[in-house]
Amino acid sequence: MAIKYVPEPFRIKMVEPLTMMTRAEREEAIKRADYNMFRLKGSECYIDLLTDSGTNAMSDKQWAGIMQGDEAYAGASSYYRFVDAAKDIFGYGFIQPVHQGRAAEKVLFPTFLSQGKYAISNMFFDTTRAHVILAGARPIDCCCEEGKNPSLRAKFKGNMDVEKMEEIIKEKGAENIGLVVMTITNNSAGGQPVSMKNMREVSEVCKKYNIPLNIDAARYAENSYFVKRDEEECKDMTIKEIVKKMFSYADMCTMSAKKDTIVNMGGMIGIKDPESPLILKIKANCISYEGFYTYGGLNGRDLEALAIGLYEGIDENYLKYRNGQMEYLASRLDDAGIAYQAPIGGHGPFIDAAQIYPHIPYYEFPGQVLAIELYKEAGIRTCDIGSYMLGNDPDTGKQLRSDNEFTRLAIPRRVYTQSHIDIMADALIEVRDHAKEIRHGYKITWEPPILRHFQASLAPVEN
Ligand SMILES: *Cc1c(COP(=O)(O)O)cnc(C)c1O
Repeated sequence: MAIKYVPEPFRIKMVEPLTMMTRAEREEAIKRADYNMFRLKGSECYIDLLTDSGTNAMSDKQWAGIMQGDEAYAGASSYYRFVDAAKDIFGYGFIQPVHQGRAAEKVLFPTFLSQGKYAISNMFFDTTRAHVILAGARPIDCCCEEGKNPSLRAKFKGNMDVEKMEEIIKEKGAENIGLVVMTITNNSAGGQPVSMKNMREVSEVCKKYNIPLNIDAARYAENSYFVKRDEEECKDMTIKEIVKKMFSYADMCTMSAKKDTIVNMGGMIGIKDPESPLILKIKANCISYEGFYTYGGLNGRDLEALAIGLYEGIDENYLKYRNGQMEYLASRLDDAGIAYQAPIGGHGPFIDAAQIYPHIPYYEFPGQVLAIELYKEAGIRTCDIGSYMLGNDPDTGKQLRSDNEFTRLAIPRRVYTQSHIDIMADALIEVRDHAKEIRHGYKITWEPPILRHFQASLAPVEN
């Protein structure tokens, strides 16, 4: 039986009408997009779960803040409001706004990574992996074993395998490890959380070998909610206290504010030590790539909305509703026997497409097959988080095999209602019931060399 839905702690003030297309129209549209979800038009999607990034609904307070944005080129009051809020929440000494998460990676990573170096992570997100490679270094994923087993219900499946991480450091040589990155929550592992204990242990190993530790902080608030719910040592702390403690274990953070900060555009770099020599390098890189360091590629109004969103994102009532939406959908999937990375993570179910399509091999991309079928069935746009997204080995050019073949239903914040959630569950059940009728997957007919999933062309594999 599906669990009770946690009611929204807000009401709707403005609506955005959606297009309703027929199945035949959708089949035409996805073919025209060369079976790439990123090449569909937004208007061709009824429920858009491609990403929870920048697709969130801002509050009336944030919209009011937009009107108060200070557009001064240097030293805008909105910059100071943002920096004060970020320092207050993360406890870091230096805050650099940038236009989104990958901009933070582009500005920061080359200061640590170059040819011959490695970066280790509990799991790199796709753009993060790309920026490690673009800096000339090589990414190594080191997620705990539990995280690789979708049906195993364990807490904190996003954790780093600390023992294995230390082995990798010894094997490659500590001097060759440019950076350790802790992704919270662990996006590619299914939005699975990282525990306070794990963060502390990773931090201890990094200190022992003198390796800088960066938090990839896109979903710091959702991660903190899980920590409070599931970790004994933190159960009486506020979300804000948990965030501050978590960040105290790292030296710096890169953040896409398009997720938990509930805005449509924004990001930041945070450095714990206000005296760090890194700060001058970051400012210099930022001026070259992003804009002057008091706006970092953002409008003054964006900084204003960010300053407000930082606090709304750590509100416990909001987080309870947000997580409740996930739990409700998960309970409907459990009732139907649809496997996903369980327990459900912070930003939506990662459906185990390999379970639905066991007859389709990884190089025909089961996660992409499910994404396409969901679109045809109900106009729901999702994406593959599996071998299709993982891409080719940068050294050999061979297709890599992902540990899991997921289709991600990333749920935007404060956007969809319980009936939309029901449509997601109903569509998944319908597609699963007809899975055997899909004999083959897809092949790539064109791909760019890096981050191919955004642009590639695909075609159905014929008999
Ligand atoms: C979204 C995301 C990024 C990249 O951020 P953008 O704002 O999309 O550039 C990096 N890391 C993680 C974990 C993310 O979820």
